[in-house]
Amino acid sequence: MKALRLIANLGYGSRKQVALMFREGRVTDASGEILYADDRVEHGNVRLDGEPLDPPAGMLLMLHKPTQYTCSTRDPGAVVYDLLPPRFRRRSPQLASIGRLDRDTSGLLLMTDDGRLLHRITHPRAYLPKVYEVTLARDLRGDEAGVFASGRLMLASERQPLAPALLQVLDARRARLTLTEGRYHQARRMFAALGNHVESLHRCRIGALELGTLAPGQWRLLAAADLDRLF
Ligand code: URA
Repeated sequence: MKALRLIANLGYGSRKQVALMFREGRVTDASGEILYADDRVEHGNVRLDGEPLDPPAGMLLMLHKPTQYTCSTRDPGAVVYDLLPPRFRRRSPQLASIGRLDRDTSGLLLMTDDGRLLHRITHPRAYLPKVYEVTLARDLRGDEAGVFASGRLMLASERQPLAPALLQVLDARRARLTLTEGRYHQARRMFAALGNHVESLHRCRIGALELGTLAPGQWRLLAAADLDRLF
């Protein structure tokens, strides 16, 4: 790919701004030789101000989404992109969240610019288990695990019953819920259907991929080995 296009696509600036970076001699190869806008380059061999570039297209990252952030690009309030380097928002192809977490939900959010990977993870037939820690406003009744496992729970305005879901009760008001679908506000609506109210919801795992010690608001790039833990 031509050097100018590569750097502009990574969100470092408009084509005009990036062209200026070349004229200023800020773009070099790994040995320090000045590169020109039209040079054909390999991503790994390019330096900007002596620094390697952001990851190339095809990147996957995990973010610990705090509550009060939305996964939208257009929300006037705080959005997950605010937690990433500003360049990431301007990348082409675009970096998008893989599925969504509500504003009031915290936890593991995956983001990628790889459309095929996004499709593979979010496809209903992927049945990728997503694990949530739930805190409830009222004590559990005792029948929730059975109802969720039945595959017969029907949410208001839905046409299909929910797929079986696993509920592990931790104490009177706390449980771990494993879902293989991603319907709108699913966990909250499941408990509402049984007369309870979700006070806090936190996604701690997708597939075998865990948030681990990543603090709220922090992110890290994922490697191929992490991807293997997803499927
Ligand atoms: N279920 C919900 O209700 N909200 C989420 O963010 C995720 C699952």
